[in-house]
Amino acid sequence: MSKEELEQVAAEVSVCPKCNLCKTRTKAVPGEGAPNSTILFIGEGPGYHEDKQGRPFVGAAGQFLDELLASIGVKRADVFITNVVKCRPPENRDPLPEEISACAPYLDRQIAAINPKVIVTLGRFSMQKFFPGERISAIHGRARKINGRICLAMYHPAAGLHQASLRSTIVEDFKKVSQALAEAERLPDSEKPKPKDDQPQQLSLF
Ligand code: URA
Ligand code: SF4
Repeated sequence: MSKEELEQVAAEVSVCPKCNLCKTRTKAVPGEGAPNSTILFIGEGPGYHEDKQGRPFVGAAGQFLDELLASIGVKRADVFITNVVKCRPPENRDPLPEEISACAPYLDRQIAAINPKVIVTLGRFSMQKFFPGERISAIHGRARKINGRICLAMYHPAAGLHQASLRSTIVEDFKKVSQALAEAERLPDSEKPKPKDDQPQQLSLF
């Protein structure tokens, strides 16, 4: 069922007219991966290569993400990767609030369909959805339990490409993903996420 819903979302995204980004996109990038993945990674938005190929994280930041996944023994095919906005902002500018809100129902449907135990936010824009009002410099590498899911805030992999000092921080933070997965397995069933219910419920950081 989740596979069909994800295909449905991808089909709608590919022809979506709901914000101005539809005018400049080459291909929309709905996201890809295992429909029942335990982990969902949420980036910012497609860049140059993603827009050309219609696939998430295939450029330089994607290569670094692949390395980060390999460093914790996770295969890209076993996770799901998507973005806050599914179409490329021109010149890779930040997505606008109205673009993020226009696109949010697609992300919400993907979260409900995949029902991941762990959500990793990559960069500020996906962080804001789960950690509103927080600063990435303060909470990177930190996890919070939100309605039975473990949400982890990470710097965007591209930040590690632009700033060498951040690279090792990101590598170190990524070890928390394994920890979050182990933690998620220990959650009692009553706390496991319920599909279509993503309101923050309780807060606890580790
Ligand atoms: N950066 C993102 O945030 N998402 C992508 O898909 C590629 C680069
Ligand atoms: Fe539609 Fe999202 Fe693309 Fe805007 S960014 S056109 S809302 S799919």
